[in-house]
Amino acid sequence: MERLLSDIKYNYEVIRENIAQAAIMSGRKPEDITFLSATKTVSPELINYAISLGLDHIGENKVQELLSKYDDYDLRSCDLHFIGHLQSNKVRQIVDKVSMIQSVDSLKLATEVSKQCQKIDTCMKILIEVNIGREENKSGVYPEKLEELLYQISELSNIQVDGLMAIPPICENEQKIRGYFQNMRNLFIDISHKNIDNISMNTLSMGMSGDYREAILEGATLVRIGSSLFGPRNYNK
Ligand SMILES: *Cc1c(COP(=O)(O)O)cnc(C)c1O
Repeated sequence: MERLLSDIKYNYEVIRENIAQAAIMSGRKPEDITFLSATKTVSPELINYAISLGLDHIGENKVQELLSKYDDYDLRSCDLHFIGHLQSNKVRQIVDKVSMIQSVDSLKLATEVSKQCQKIDTCMKILIEVNIGREENKSGVYPEKLEELLYQISELSNIQVDGLMAIPPICENEQKIRGYFQNMRNLFIDISHKNIDNISMNTLSMGMSGDYREAILEGATLVRIGSSLFGPRNYNK
């Protein structure tokens, strides 16, 4: 345990430093980039340790896991996001617990978020997940369908689109992954120029442990980092 905590502390500092450097290289300030940790399979005890180091955003990708850990997170100085594939019938269980849903990719899901937020009189920030690699087995709206979806979502109440999110295909070379990140940035800029009601382009969520520096260099404003902070995941604990 002692060893694990000192590893997390070391990793945390390295990641903050890498984020700061990439931010500056891309003409921004370190504080312009949000470091969110993807905390799937990580115990609340370790998550809270990272929060004590200054981590201020965490994200879960499964509703069941989020609910089982929820009472144990120390969220006084930390925001909780939902970052995974979300089924409409589970929206009700998380709308009072998260401050952002990063993975909305259909009108059906957005409508359900709007409806459940109306019930509890709150407004949810959401990101639209884009399937930037056009992979059949992955969630996310295809790039050419994004604008239509945004116009439809802009009609809904109790929901505020804050930007875009993507999980690009696993790439063997850096040029290729940077190409996907550039495509995301271009979409992000195109949409922001359209000035659609209720649609802001503040957050561009892309980049994970293996590629967050490249993502920042290409314009990410939020990176989602799991294993580089907490070590390799053990799914059969
Ligand atoms: C797990 C996860 C990440 C982080 O993955 P790492 O490669 O461990 O950094 C990022 N985004 C989502 C949606 C995830 O589920």
